[in-house]
Amino acid sequence: MDPVLKVSDIKQYLYCPRIIYFTYVLPVEKKTTPKMEVGKEEHLKTARLEGRRRLRTYGLTEGKRFFNTYLFSPRLGLEGVLDMYITVPRGSFPVDFKNTCRLAVNHKYQLLAYALLLEDWLGRPVRGGFIYLIPLGRAVYVEATPEARLYTKRLLGAIRGLIEREQFPAVPRRAGRCADCEYRNYCGDVG
Ligand code: SF4
Repeated sequence: MDPVLKVSDIKQYLYCPRIIYFTYVLPVEKKTTPKMEVGKEEHLKTARLEGRRRLRTYGLTEGKRFFNTYLFSPRLGLEGVLDMYITVPRGSFPVDFKNTCRLAVNHKYQLLAYALLLEDWLGRPVRGGFIYLIPLGRAVYVEATPEARLYTKRLLGAIRGLIEREQFPAVPRRAGRCADCEYRNYCGDVG
C-alpha cells in the first residue's frame, strides 16, 4: 500500500529528493538544527499574535481564523497540520507561516498541497492561499491555478515513484543546500 504522504514532503522533495529517501526508504534519525528550533518558536509566536491582528494583511475584511488544523485526504493519500485557514463568505484560504523574507518554490507548492487538502477536507473549492512571511509581516497570495494543481499532484506522484523505486537520488544541483541540511551526516558525497 502507498504510504500516506505529508504536505512537508513536497517542500523537502523540492529542496532535495534525498530527504524523501532518508524519510521513507532508509529512515534515519535527523538532527534538529538551531535554525529549526528558532523556526518553531517563531511559528508559535506568530499564531499567538495572529489572533489579535486584523485580516487586512490578507486583503480580507471579515472572516474566521482556524489554527493548527489536522487535515487528511484519503483520495490524495496526503495529510498535514495547517498553521491557519481563514473562512470568509466567499470561500476559505489556507495560510502557511514561514520564517523567511523570500518566497521559495518549495514553499509555494507546499501551500498548494495544503489548498488541495483543505478543499477535500471542507468539500468546497479552494482557489488559493497565503504564505505569511514572518520577518516582513506580509502575506503573499498564491493562486491555485489548474496548472499549479496539476504540478502539485505530479510532485506527489514523483515522491511516490522515488519511494517505490528505492533509488538513492543524486546530490541537488544548487550549491549551498547541503551546508544547512540536517541529513548532511548521512551523505558521504557532499562537500
Ligand atoms: S546533505 Fe545535501 S545531498 Fe544530502 S540530503 Fe542534505 S541537501 Fe541532500
